Amino acid sequence: MRFHVLFAALILPFSLSLLSPCSATFFLNISSIPPWFVIPDVTKSAWDIFQNLSGCHAGDKIDGISKLKNYFNEFGYIPTSPANFTDDFDDALESAIKTYQKNFNLNETGQLDNDTLQQIIKPRCGNADIVNGSTTMNSGKTSSYNTTIAHFHTVGHYAFFPGTPRWPANMLDLTYAFLPGNSLTDDVKAVFSRAFVKWSTVIPLTFTEIDSYSTADIRIGFFVGDHGDGEPFDGVLGTLAHAFSPPSGRFHLDGDENWVISGDISSNSGSTAIDLESVAVHEIGHVLGLGHSSVEDSIMYPTISSGTRKVELASDDIEGIQILYGSNPNYNGSSSTTSTNQSDTNDCSRPHVIHSLWGSCIMMAIGLVLLYW
Ligand SMILES: [Zn+2]
Ligand SMILES: [Zn+2]
Repeated sequence: MRFHVLFAALILPFSLSLLSPCSATFFLNISSIPPWFVIPDVTKSAWDIFQNLSGCHAGDKIDGISKLKNYFNEFGYIPTSPANFTDDFDDALESAIKTYQKNFNLNETGQLDNDTLQQIIKPRCGNADIVNGSTTMNSGKTSSYNTTIAHFHTVGHYAFFPGTPRWPANMLDLTYAFLPGNSLTDDVKAVFSRAFVKWSTVIPLTFTEIDSYSTADIRIGFFVGDHGDGEPFDGVLGTLAHAFSPPSGRFHLDGDENWVISGDISSNSGSTAIDLESVAVHEIGHVLGLGHSSVEDSIMYPTISSGTRKVELASDDIEGIQILYGSNPNYNGSSSTTSTNQSDTNDCSRPHVIHSLWGSCIMMAIGLVLLYW
């Protein structure tokens, strides 16, 4: 009898994990993250090893430089194949660093100074900053680059994918659906609904959730590691999500992140928690056709630190998306979209969102109690 109980205790959680292979970890708010998820002074992502390269410059040869070249290759700064990379700090790397520094508003030293390294290791979107050699941020712009919308006078930093793809004019009422295997709760789905509203407020598009994942225009899923599109996720932090240009509609998030779905996330900056809505608003920008922007306050800036929440469209985002789709007739011209998070504080007293790891722990505990009962 005890053997059967023990068997069930051990096998059931394992079976559940097989049924939902991509189940991500969600926390209703920052205070619901258990202490053992807060990992100060411990390497949080694969990119933290780049800290060892501080002060490197052209002519050096140091372990880890080949990995940094892989990083710059992934985001479009070095176009050659990763298979050829050495640990030599060569001209290609120096050029990549200078371009990166320009894109992220850093001093263009070509060296791995501390400011540059701290930017490099920040969690970020998996979409490249430079696509097919076409630079989409500062380095691809001239000082005379200006928007074609007459009533905006600021220099535009927004960017589009090569070829400026957008959803066609006969597809302005878009549908979206969630990967069924993720079994997302209504609380998590509501985060995406709020994120879509940020964009539909300023452009004449609508977004409606439907059940059919296969027929939806926009397909949202949490995946772990290699998930078949050539853009594998990398565990906690590092790349957080990516999305494809229109009219693909593919919108993928890293199931290994510790996603927080509401409340003030800034009170726990030492954790690996990432604000889901902030990332969702950014990725929807890609789904609609925007590339990365060098404006740090913009939604389309590529990086976001853990413990940070940024969900309001900046004027740069609005200018860019309205060039693609025009303005929503009801949009009043305010650069800040309406916040829909008034109920955040009320959520604190609600039960924590169930996630796979806690679920497994609970199942194990029940099994052990039954075993000795
Ligand atoms: Zn992005
Ligand atoms: Zn993907």
